[in-house]
Amino acid sequence: MKVNPADFIRAIPDFPKPGIIFRDITPLLSNAEALRATIGHFVDRYQDQGITQVVGMEARGFIFGTALAHALGVGFVPLRKPGKLPGATLKQSYALEYGEDTLEMHSDALTAADKVVIIDDLLATGGTALAAVQLVEKSAAQLHECAFVITLQALPGVKRLDEAGIPHYTLCEF
Ligand code: AMP
Repeated sequence: MKVNPADFIRAIPDFPKPGIIFRDITPLLSNAEALRATIGHFVDRYQDQGITQVVGMEARGFIFGTALAHALGVGFVPLRKPGKLPGATLKQSYALEYGEDTLEMHSDALTAADKVVIIDDLLATGGTALAAVQLVEKSAAQLHECAFVITLQALPGVKRLDEAGIPHYTLCEF
């Protein structure tokens, strides 16, 4: 019988601060069948779609993104926190609960000929995903879809992506 990836996501209350329920994907990563089912699900969805690159956000987007890119037979483009990428970068800032953060992508990582899937472990407020979309737009590549292992329904990420007309897909909802 096929495993359900949702059964391998652990809820840890009050991490990293009181009131937050942290969705921990490490049990999913360490279970061979759950990891294979998760990546296989995205492969089924994105193979034969003309995808040329998978884009993933630091840090957990790297795990799923690289595995997906490898299985699709395409490349992987990392989006990183400021100051980590050595070459010329495109930058996009986004609001956090307190203050702001920035994502960077190498300026030459994508071209207008690319069709990409953006992947991250989790969609919450949507700030990270919207910044990733803006970086892909700045590169002139075509965005096929944003993919998430987990979407938190109580938070505004889904609404913000819908309002911006950005296609998105999730494996598990909490
Ligand atoms: P957001 O920009 O608010 O949509 O947050 C998404 C990013 O923050 C993702 O990269 C997640 O890894 C992380 N994140 C936000 N909320 C949680 C949570 N409750 N559990 C685990 N990771 C989270």
